Amino acid sequence: MTSVMSLPEQRAFAEEPFEPRRFLVYTERHLDKIAPLKKLTPQQRFEMRVVASVLPFRVNQYVIDELIDWNNIPADPVFQLTFPQRGMLAETDFARMVEALRGGDRAGIQAVARAIRAGLNPHPAGQQLLNVPQLDEQTLDGIQHKYRETILFFPSQGQVCHSYCSFCFRWAQFIGDKELRFSAKEADQLHAYLEQHKNISDLLVTGGDPMVMKTQHLVNYLEPLTQPQFDHIQTIRIGTKSLTFWPQRYVTDEDADELLDLLSRLVRAGKHVALMAHFNHWREMDTDIAREAIRRVRETGAVIRTQAPLLRHINDDPQIWADMWREQVRLGLVPYYMFVERDTGAKQYFEVPLARAWEIYREAMQQISGLGRTARGPSMSAGPGKVEIQGVSEINGEKVFVLRFIQARNPDWVQRPFFAQYDENATWLDQLKPAFGEEKFFFEDEYQAMLAGEINPRVV
Ligand SMILES: *Cc1c(COP(=O)(O)O)cnc(C)c1O
Repeated sequence: MTSVMSLPEQRAFAEEPFEPRRFLVYTERHLDKIAPLKKLTPQQRFEMRVVASVLPFRVNQYVIDELIDWNNIPADPVFQLTFPQRGMLAETDFARMVEALRGGDRAGIQAVARAIRAGLNPHPAGQQLLNVPQLDEQTLDGIQHKYRETILFFPSQGQVCHSYCSFCFRWAQFIGDKELRFSAKEADQLHAYLEQHKNISDLLVTGGDPMVMKTQHLVNYLEPLTQPQFDHIQTIRIGTKSLTFWPQRYVTDEDADELLDLLSRLVRAGKHVALMAHFNHWREMDTDIAREAIRRVRETGAVIRTQAPLLRHINDDPQIWADMWREQVRLGLVPYYMFVERDTGAKQYFEVPLARAWEIYREAMQQISGLGRTARGPSMSAGPGKVEIQGVSEINGEKVFVLRFIQARNPDWVQRPFFAQYDENATWLDQLKPAFGEEKFFFEDEYQAMLAGEINPRVV
């Protein structure tokens, strides 16, 4: 699909100093200001506006200048990754928004946008229902606690990204306004919750993108974790797409050195610090500044692990994954997860059948060295846990998917193989049926009890 693209080349890290670059960002209101879009027809630009009136859109100048090959649009993978495409909305939703935009009434447009969004499963996998923890009988909005040993923390200053991914499963949180006021209280709540839960070993700071925050905010959240009452917090992970969308964060931004210094101090204090870097395509790592950013982060002693969903139009080709994982290993990164695109937002545009996803994973794995085979997947982050497609097999004459939990609401479910009827079109766990004529998957009764509030998922 990605026609004229060269492979990542082996080259030395650039030695010239990098010029600071001003962060310049475009949203749906500025589509007309993006110079290379002038190449498109007015009809194509209007279609983008229609889609961007429903799904979040944000792209910055570095992505436009350095990552997109404008001679290869619309097929270019980073163009697909960031720019709205007509097929991202169902025909009927698309038509409704066209009509609303023609009407020109702001309130009407907003109402149609809200109605369409509500039909796109904005909060998948029971996040709002089951994962919100309590502290002194108050719910903590900025924290999700799904798996015993790991909490997700969403600092309020980190709830945007340097650009938005068109397939993002957290898209719904970019629709509202960002709230900047509660930071001090939030840090206190995070620390209090961590102090009270000694079985938590991993903190995963996520967003949005925490790396949009000024370093000082990260210092406030993370530096206190070096005190003895947080010795149980062994790993600090930061989920980010900044190495793709704004590598300047680690190289030329005003507080870049301070940020690297913070990472070094956390490492020196004995923490495992990991950047969970989101890369969908090796092209994203193929600029001098991205490589310099990677080099500088690694110099702090932090590890960079990589993860990404498998997406039609962007990376549904084993060659792309093999080249990407190989390149990551060469740059010293550790491949971690291949995800299945979640059942939300523009899913129908990006989804790949589970059977095909497994083939792509397998064909990519076969091409790379053992050091790249640390990537697990394809994995579905579903309500009960992360379910990996281990393969397709035939057992007693029945064609089946072999599945396992790599992470689960009950740790006892982890690593037990289980089986579903093979279905060449299924794209998500809820479309799979148990194999061998069984009525339910082994975890279903217990999961239903968790949903009904009869079992506290984190105390089993
Ligand atoms: C993926 C995920 C984690 C981390 O799981 P690991 O398998 O340790 O990477 C934690 N919380 C949630 C909600 C997740 O989806």
